Amino acid sequence: MMPSTPLPKNYQLIRDVVDECGLGCHLTPSEIYAKVRERQPGIGLTTIYRGLERLRELGFVSEIEVPGADAAAYEPAGPHHAHFRCSSCGRIEDVAFVIPANTLDALAREHGVEIKDQRVTFEGRCSRCTASG
Ligand SMILES: [Zn+2]
Ligand SMILES: [Zn+2]
Repeated sequence: MMPSTPLPKNYQLIRDVVDECGLGCHLTPSEIYAKVRERQPGIGLTTIYRGLERLRELGFVSEIEVPGADAAAYEPAGPHHAHFRCSSCGRIEDVAFVIPANTLDALAREHGVEIKDQRVTFEGRCSRCTASG
């Protein structure tokens, strides 16, 4: 990993699209593909997948895999948070929640494991779906 090496132009475009969407915005690879193609019409979907993988390795974007969602989504790398998925419309929202470090430590000790990451997802109905009955 050499962070000083400039990103290939196509990868930089992918990063720009994710960054411009902002925190709290979760884009699927096909949504990213559509947005990147507006600026770089010749780009292929394979490049999008490779680019996302590379950007994830470099820590520029985070990959979110939410149970029940059709595809992984991507967001700009930022503070840890949990996600909420609406089981009616599939909408994914950020939830300001992290499992406290002392809880993780206690769990790790209890199970004799080393916990390196946490992915918390809540599920239910979003405010829009609740409002529409
Ligand atoms: Zn909903
Ligand atoms: Zn998020």
